[in-house]
Amino acid sequence: CGVFAVYAPGRKVANLTFDGLYALQHRGQESAGMAVSDHNSVTVYKNMGLVSNVFDERTLASLPGDLAIGHTRYSTTGASNWRNAQPVYRSVGPYGFAIAHNGNLTNTSELAEQIGMLPGMVSSDSDLMAELIAMRFPKEKGDTRELRPGEALVSATLSVLPELQGAYSLVLMDAEVVVAVRDPHGFRPLCIGELDGGGHVFASETPALDVVGAQFIREIEPGEMVVADDHGVRSYHPFDPKTLEPKLCIFEFVYFARPDSRLLDQEVHGTRRRMGMYLAQTMPVEADMVMGVPDSGVPAAEGYALASKIPYGQGLVKNRYIGRTFISPDPASRVSAVRRKLNPLSENISGKRLVVVDDSIVRGTTTRSMVKMLRSAGAAEVHLRISSPPYKWPCFYGINTPSRKDLLAARYDMEEMREFLEADSLAFLSLDDLRKAISVDGGFCDACLTGNYPTKTSQQP
Ligand code: 5GP
Ligand code: SF4
Ligand code: MG
Repeated sequence: CGVFAVYAPGRKVANLTFDGLYALQHRGQESAGMAVSDHNSVTVYKNMGLVSNVFDERTLASLPGDLAIGHTRYSTTGASNWRNAQPVYRSVGPYGFAIAHNGNLTNTSELAEQIGMLPGMVSSDSDLMAELIAMRFPKEKGDTRELRPGEALVSATLSVLPELQGAYSLVLMDAEVVVAVRDPHGFRPLCIGELDGGGHVFASETPALDVVGAQFIREIEPGEMVVADDHGVRSYHPFDPKTLEPKLCIFEFVYFARPDSRLLDQEVHGTRRRMGMYLAQTMPVEADMVMGVPDSGVPAAEGYALASKIPYGQGLVKNRYIGRTFISPDPASRVSAVRRKLNPLSENISGKRLVVVDDSIVRGTTTRSMVKMLRSAGAAEVHLRISSPPYKWPCFYGINTPSRKDLLAARYDMEEMREFLEADSLAFLSLDDLRKAISVDGGFCDACLTGNYPTKTSQQP
């Protein structure tokens, strides 16, 4: 998912939030929404579909206010339906707040049980967190703990955070404040920027800051909570320092983030190009042309061509009006989506020995039909080169991967995979080279590649 938040005194922020969400569309395409406050009330508008389908000039005009949060959704838990669109809103007595989430909690059932919810009653992580937070608001009128709106949200959130396990990059708001939080491992990215003319912006990725003209300040630290209100921004550290252990998702670099994102001071595109260069050095092959599978395989293909000195060319055209096929949740729609999405350039590949570079293989279904397509368009040989190690373990931290029985690399050895994919050769980047390409020391989650999960989880891989 993509999350966005803004606090910009005196500015109407609905349009700005739209732009931020539009820049985060790649992180989730099922639903989009925003909550906006004019310091009197919080208004939520959300629906199924792309950011540009959900909002138009008229709806944006009807959302007054100078603080907002927003969300683009890609479902990991919970069905893909309106009820699960975010932000989720709760009113508690005189208070009302909204929350939007990127990630995946790993102790959902324990938390639900604690508060007397049956497993089937929890429709999403955000729902559950909203419930947990709502329960910490002062209840009784005249309660000595009665707090002003902003204070109530901040203190309720601070008291809930230590109970959450797993991956969460959150944005929250009430009528008065905006809050942004990253879990102690920082699985999912979240950064903060400053607007010209005052105000702050929070976003999953830096291109959302760029598009609204905000200057990048820094990433929110793993285990940090930042509050923006009329007094500016301030930071809280609600976790035991011993639990802070950076584990940014390594797949943000491989696949998930935009190439123009900056993560850990690296432009993602450059890291992907280096992945391709290392792949060429360690897994060479004689060929006539290097091509990338659009869009995610292209930067690594550029690197492979550069390092191997095999000419780079285009072998597939992607329909630019189709999003990420992997992100469509149901497998049947995924297969047909590949054919809709990619079409070969026959003249350019006919008779050629191709190095075909992609970022990853998960189920193998898209890769297999893509290889078939290249062959029927006349490719003489197809040598698959993958710019990440084999994906063998399911992700519990916010990426919707299938169980082991559907992960190609968990079911098959290298030769069986090659055979299934009908490729002439198949090779992957090593984990060491992946780390070298990112050129930041340690601090990554790589559980889907190694099976080393950074947190306990009640789910069985
Ligand atoms: P497969 O051949 O496993 O069906 O699909 C592989 C393709 O899925 C790659 O091109 C990769 O870019 C894409 N993909 C889309 N979403 C994801 C994701 O969340 N994780 C990974 N690893 N690959 C994904
Ligand atoms: Fe990322 Fe893989 Fe870890 Fe999931 S398991 S957070 S996809 S590195
Ligand atoms: Mg791809």
